[in-house]
Amino acid sequence: MANDQSPIIQKLIDLFSKFPTVGQRTASRFVFYLIKQPQEKIEELITSIQNLKSKIKCCSFCFNPFEANDDDDLCGICNDMRRDRTLLCIIEKENDLISIERTKKYKGLYFILGGTVATLKKDDIEKLRIKELEERLRSPQSFGIITLLKEIIIATNPTPEGKSTAILVKRTIKEILKDDSIKITHLGLGLPVGGELEYADEETLENALGGRK
Ligand SMILES: [Zn+2]
Repeated sequence: MANDQSPIIQKLIDLFSKFPTVGQRTASRFVFYLIKQPQEKIEELITSIQNLKSKIKCCSFCFNPFEANDDDDLCGICNDMRRDRTLLCIIEKENDLISIERTKKYKGLYFILGGTVATLKKDDIEKLRIKELEERLRSPQSFGIITLLKEIIIATNPTPEGKSTAILVKRTIKEILKDDSIKITHLGLGLPVGGELEYADEETLENALGGRK
């Protein structure tokens, strides 16, 4: 970036470049795109971003972001009594929930870990919602959820980080749920090794869910 860049432009480039997968080059494209937009488009963007903070809450059970009415603490999925409360699917991130929901084949509940770990070191582990997972497994009713869990599906990605994370999650579950009456399963074959759930097509994901073991 040229040194004579306007500080106003540079500031926005720096802000955008902190977004996931966006570097300085893409960030500067965003900024030059915005410069060309009419005022009302800019207002729309500002309002949409503000609404994210003022109207969107994280579900108190699964951490799925949702549009909250009144004092609701649970998202539409956790609140839906038609869903199968014997199933809990543990996923890395919000987009994985969207991908699995799109298959329409899974009717249970979720828990979003908030990422993956590369190692099983304490510092790494603390970046994930492992403590939160423990609390919800110990006492789901304290988070507004009545469940009678029969199966926990560990649906992390088939990447090295996803695999380390799966080991950690399994260890956590086993420490808490001492009896073996709850089945712990993983997604079945079909997902490409190193691939990610969020990019898998619906049929592949459907097969992986159906073939879980
Ligand atoms: Zn929820």
